[in-house]
Amino acid sequence: MMIDFKQAEAKLIAAGKRLDALNLAPATSGNYSIRLSDKEIVITESGNHKGKLQHGDFLRVDMEGKPLEDKKPSAETLLHCQLYKCYEKAQAILHTHSVAGTVLTRFFDDQAFITLTGYEMLKIYPGNAKNTHDISVHIPVFDNTQDMVELSARVDPVLQERPDLSVYLIRGHGLYAWGETIEQAEYITEATEMMLKCELETLKLKGAMR
Ligand SMILES: [Zn+2]
Repeated sequence: MMIDFKQAEAKLIAAGKRLDALNLAPATSGNYSIRLSDKEIVITESGNHKGKLQHGDFLRVDMEGKPLEDKKPSAETLLHCQLYKCYEKAQAILHTHSVAGTVLTRFFDDQAFITLTGYEMLKIYPGNAKNTHDISVHIPVFDNTQDMVELSARVDPVLQERPDLSVYLIRGHGLYAWGETIEQAEYITEATEMMLKCELETLKLKGAMR
């Protein structure tokens, strides 16, 4: 079901409050969007704190990331557009910056994946068709850059190969998560961030026991 601009703003404002309360939106980091139609998305304007978003802190862009009003969209708008074009079912995208995602992707700085195995919360992923905890999910990790065209070119082949995917990480930077509703995107974000935190805590324990 498509929603209008004002409804989308309200949902993204609420998502920002929630993610900020979970320490997933420090300073002006992150960006959030909702698909309005086949041709338009609504996305956060560049530079605002995501826990303090208000009506007016958003704008429409087309599917190439071009602003449809006189505002500057988030720097990473192209990555949102790419996901909407690749995953027809995606209706909302949330991008968070967390301690766990940042530390893990920097610690394993030569790994193209972070693998999550055996967690009950793996059931959150729509691609987990058997709805079991007894699997491994390989979350792709892409090296960070400020060049979004170059980054999206590296992301593209992985998206094409993984129709099951609903998250990826950018190294030393953050998480992208998408869903068929904003609520689903939030659950996927929260669950993934929780499992990343578990991975980090486990590493710390292993280090302490050595
Ligand atoms: Zn970011």
